[in-house]
Amino acid sequence: MSRVLHELTVELGERSYPIIIGQGLLGSYDLSSFVSGSQVMIVTNETVAPLYLDRAVGCFPGKQIDTVVLPDGEKYKDWQTLNMIFDGLLESRHTRKTTLVALGGGVVGDMTGFAAACYQRGVHFIQMPTTLLSQVDSSVGGKTGINHPLGKNMVGAFHQPEAVLIDTDSLCTLPPREVSAGLAEVIKYGLIRDIRFLDWLEAEMDRLVALDASAIAEAIYRSCACKAEVVARDEREGGLRAILNLGHTFGHAIETYAGYGNWLHGEAVGTGMIMAADLSVREGMISREQCDRAAALIRRAGLPELPPAGMTPGDFMELMSVDKKNVDGELRLVLLDGIGHAVVTGDAAADNLDATLARFCR
Ligand code: NAD
Ligand code: MG
Repeated sequence: MSRVLHELTVELGERSYPIIIGQGLLGSYDLSSFVSGSQVMIVTNETVAPLYLDRAVGCFPGKQIDTVVLPDGEKYKDWQTLNMIFDGLLESRHTRKTTLVALGGGVVGDMTGFAAACYQRGVHFIQMPTTLLSQVDSSVGGKTGINHPLGKNMVGAFHQPEAVLIDTDSLCTLPPREVSAGLAEVIKYGLIRDIRFLDWLEAEMDRLVALDASAIAEAIYRSCACKAEVVARDEREGGLRAILNLGHTFGHAIETYAGYGNWLHGEAVGTGMIMAADLSVREGMISREQCDRAAALIRRAGLPELPPAGMTPGDFMELMSVDKKNVDGELRLVLLDGIGHAVVTGDAAADNLDATLARFCR
């Protein structure tokens, strides 16, 4: 059975696009109106292809469809693997009118979007995110790119999709760790901008972890609505958009330290948000009770509360110094100045940061 449960628009003037959320949409929802020419290149990976590629093809009746199947993993989010997409496009003679389709998680989405931004100086693309994290975060907002050995997401472009199609049924095959990782970004929206959503998440967390269909569709909708609003106000991260990085400065350090792929992005963000909340307490911005409330919800989502064993404050300081938010060598962090409200600051006191790192490093 297929049905659309929620629909919203990312308002970006002539670059506006719909997010369509529902059950059974892969294979039944006709996306051909979002394809400008006759050619479609579906990019996916070796894990997702056997599960959903046949169904995805069904969304483009009457089109020439080619496919590129990438190896699976964050470690393949690199130049060499990106080239496989260009090889496929050129070998099958795709023109400037082609439409790329990203079928998979955030890795496939970021790489396909970046390929679309570059191929023949820019072609259309559609997001079909199949992980919870990509459904609530990476498929919306137009950030695309790949990793460099010296830093995550260091090479990329802003390139908005034509549409985002979210089939919640695809979550049924997702490993539980990946579900928890996606819930980290869901909780993030409540913490940074929406106290009522946070209340709702506290009431519904058990159903979300169990992938209850209507609860998960609502969580995706409210998360996308929050991200869409932030992106509409600040598409290229001149200011407000940076609050979407709550927990990400600590989190990226954890991911890099652990080696790409060993800690999931969302897991690192979960721990990073607890660390950011702890620093917010030390900065006198929230109470210890509010910090504990955030930590409890993150724990209930099945996420780790401490960084990897052996990671030192020195490791954090070194890895955080390359963060893209930093300006002129000054470390910039997203902190909470209330539950449901985030700010970006370069003013955190060094001894407070040291105290947070000392508390979390074992
Ligand atoms: P991922 O793309 O690696 O997917 C996780 C795993 O799940 C992979 O092994 C994948 O093959 C598998 N998978 C995907 N869909 C599945 C399904 N339905 N059933 C079973 N297995 C499935 O990881 P992710 O968490 O989706 O995305 C993380 C990436 O997203 C990172 O590279 C991160 O930098 C990026 N990201 C980008 C943005 C952005 O704004 N562009 C935002 C957040 C994260
Ligand atoms: Mg993220």
